[in-house]
Amino acid sequence: MLVRVTISPIKEQNFTDGQAYTISFMEEQPRPSESAPTLSQDDDRGANADLEQELAETKSELQNTIEELETSTEELRASHEEALSTNEELQSTNEELEASSEELRSLNEELNTVNAQLKDKLEQLRHANNDLANFFSSTDIPTLFLDPDLKIQRYTPAAESLLKIGPRDLDHHISSLQRHLVEEDLIDDCQQVLRNFQPVQREVKDFQGRWYIRQITPYRTEARRIEGVVLAFQDVTKFKTLNQRAQQREEQQAVVAKLGMLALSGTEPVELMQQAVRHVAHVFNADYCKVLRFQPEQHNLRMVAGFGWPQELVGKATVADSHFSQAGFTLRSKEPVIVDNLMEEKRFSGPALLLDYQVRSGISCLINHTDPPYGVLGVHAREQRKFTQEDATFLQSVANMLSTAIRTKEAVETIHESEQRLKMARDAGNIGIHDYDIQNQRMVWDETHRQIWGISQELEPITYQTFEQALHPDDKDRINREIATALEQPGNHTWEFRVINAADRTLRFVVLKGQVIHSNGRPSRLVATVQDVTERKRMEQSLRQAVWELEQVDQRKNEFLSILGHELRNPLAAISGGLEMLEQDQVAEPKVFEVMQHSVETMRNLLDDLLDLNRVSQNKIELAPERVDVRFLLDTALQQATPQCNKKQQILVTDIKPGLQLVADPTRLEQVFTNLLVNACKYTPRGGQIDIKAYQADHEIRVHVRDSGLGILPEDLDRIFDPFFQVTPENQAPQGLGVGLALAKKLVEMHKGTIEAHSEGPGRGSVFTVILPIQNQLNSAAPAPEKKTTADHIPRQKVLLIEDNENILFTLQLLLESLNCEVSVASSGLAGVEKIASFEPDVVLVDIGLPDISGHEVAAQARANGYRGLLVALSGYSHQEVREKSRQVGFDHHLAKPATMADLSAILTPGN
Ligand code: ADP
Repeated sequence: MLVRVTISPIKEQNFTDGQAYTISFMEEQPRPSESAPTLSQDDDRGANADLEQELAETKSELQNTIEELETSTEELRASHEEALSTNEELQSTNEELEASSEELRSLNEELNTVNAQLKDKLEQLRHANNDLANFFSSTDIPTLFLDPDLKIQRYTPAAESLLKIGPRDLDHHISSLQRHLVEEDLIDDCQQVLRNFQPVQREVKDFQGRWYIRQITPYRTEARRIEGVVLAFQDVTKFKTLNQRAQQREEQQAVVAKLGMLALSGTEPVELMQQAVRHVAHVFNADYCKVLRFQPEQHNLRMVAGFGWPQELVGKATVADSHFSQAGFTLRSKEPVIVDNLMEEKRFSGPALLLDYQVRSGISCLINHTDPPYGVLGVHAREQRKFTQEDATFLQSVANMLSTAIRTKEAVETIHESEQRLKMARDAGNIGIHDYDIQNQRMVWDETHRQIWGISQELEPITYQTFEQALHPDDKDRINREIATALEQPGNHTWEFRVINAADRTLRFVVLKGQVIHSNGRPSRLVATVQDVTERKRMEQSLRQAVWELEQVDQRKNEFLSILGHELRNPLAAISGGLEMLEQDQVAEPKVFEVMQHSVETMRNLLDDLLDLNRVSQNKIELAPERVDVRFLLDTALQQATPQCNKKQQILVTDIKPGLQLVADPTRLEQVFTNLLVNACKYTPRGGQIDIKAYQADHEIRVHVRDSGLGILPEDLDRIFDPFFQVTPENQAPQGLGVGLALAKKLVEMHKGTIEAHSEGPGRGSVFTVILPIQNQLNSAAPAPEKKTTADHIPRQKVLLIEDNENILFTLQLLLESLNCEVSVASSGLAGVEKIASFEPDVVLVDIGLPDISGHEVAAQARANGYRGLLVALSGYSHQEVREKSRQVGFDHHLAKPATMADLSAILTPGN
């Protein structure tokens, strides 16, 4: 088959990337051959056969070909049709190509534009490159660019000065720099960056002490390849210093916080100071720290806590409180004192303590800004350091904390002490605490309060009802009312009431003193003290009673004094009357002596009774018991009373059982019965009757003295035995001193007996009954035999009388002479002492109250001068102490004034 191929250029289209062509393929019909070959017979036969065969074959082939042709024709027809349609497609493709060509043209235009833009970018890049170069030269960050073999490729100018690098070092290994910032680890770090493509940072310090952050980053190309490292040194000295300072501040604040916590948790100031000096020294990295306590009296400061110092200095070392020490200067300056160099210090001279320990720098500040301050806190370093104002502020805050802790501790101790005192006072005063929450109707009571109310410690809750239940029924309404009213107004209130203790049912007097507190205009609390004043009330009551009794006694005493005056006046009047008569030489009248003697006797009896009562009251009378016959006793008493009864024509009836005996002091019992008989006589009218009856009942002797006289009011029956008590009928003078019965009662009681009075009432007479035990366990000292008071048995003796009162001197001299004595007198102490030496008496009577020296001194001097005779003191006082004093200074006897004949003769009788 023949095919015609036609290639022709496409002219209409103007393609940018070259010429376009169209290629077309066309089938051609073959032309017949110009020459045919000649053949033999055989050949012809053969050839015929062959030809025939061929023909046949050709026929069949032809047939086939025809068939194929037909088929081909068919196919051609179809192809033709396809070609037709392909042609159509080609036409449309052609159209599309034309359109594409159009697009290509516009694309070309765009490319032109992009090209122009790229040119611009390139220009910009050149600028940027310039900028970068300038940046390099202007930056102060020393930077080096190293290739993968760590050879120096580039560096910034800043690196020149830091690393002393120059152009000669380019393309040399970084280690060749031999600078201190280029160390072994730098090479390692670079290699690590090259391996891991991760930057490595490290802080390094140069020999000047400046700090840098050395940063090694991978050097990346645009294609993100690593082609070395970039080594940059950023100076962070400032930052580092600031950081260090911030760290220091942080530590300081931590110290302040820690000490604050310790202070708050109540750590003892001494312990706190120890902690403080340790922490402060640590924070400042200082060699020493100390707390010095100011001792104003000693004019120094003593180290009470220290760190860094030898242990033996703590508690002992001292520095002066003057300008001769940093601490002394700090005390005065009141502000923190910063010392840069102690050697050059001008404000004060360094104390031995600091100089000895090579201190150079430091700070000190005041602890406690009160007057006087507590002391000084100091921190010191051996190296010269520059402490800042901030350091001083920190130290001051530690000092302030110590000061607060000390003051708090002192305050706590003061509070504790005052609480203790308060508690002691509360306990001593039996004072309880009462806290009433009014809104919630709840009360809080302490132990004392509960005890007063008699409720257990466990009882809870305590309510107003608990309070109210114990109130005495008579006080309850009043107190409820008063408390309700008081709650309405804030302020102080006091209530006094009675409480019946719930536990022991005892009555307690209570004082509730409290304050009502209002909040939001309403009563919220009543805080009060509760005091049990029962004891006080009782004492007040007994005091009132005592006062009343004292008033009674005082009144009776006054009455007694006026009566005494009256009683004494009568005998005195008689004596002075007698004396007048003696003056007028009417000596011959014996009645005068009798009256005077009687008067003296009356006065002596009065005084004896008084003195006896006094001595009985003071238990100064000693009984001299002996077996006594009661009849004998009563007869003696009757003998004394009979004359008076006879005067009043009274009838005396006795009924005394014979043989009644008891152990008693006869003199004293005689005194008792005489008193009762004399009273019976006194208080019974003329012609009345007095009965004396004595008998034994069981182991007692009973004696009744009955009269038909005035009688006694029932209310006076007990009181008549009180000293000085008298019942004086109206418009009548008292008839005694009110001493007799009181004395009688005491004397009977001394005999373990009783005395009582009975009366049917006024005008119906009285009965006095004395009951005495028969066997009395009394002081059984045998009584001294009665001495006769005459001069018969007294040998003649020389008696010196020293007395300044002329009257007593005179009468005593007469008495002594009547007692057979040779008497010499002296009217002063010193004269007496001289007379003792010259007169050489056997007995010296000395008045105690002399004008020059006292009787005691006379005795002492006499004894000192060798006087061995009897020394007798004369004194208006005769109580035990006075007698004891006399004995001590050398007196042998002590006589109460006025000395009687009996007293004198007893002393002058040999053997006494
Ligand atoms: P006085 O010296 O006053 O008699 P007493 O102590 O002996 O003192 O007596 C005290 C009081 O007792 C007397 O003042 C008198 O009122 C009363 N009294 C004593 N004895 C009798 C009595 N026998 N009859 C009535 N009253 C008497």
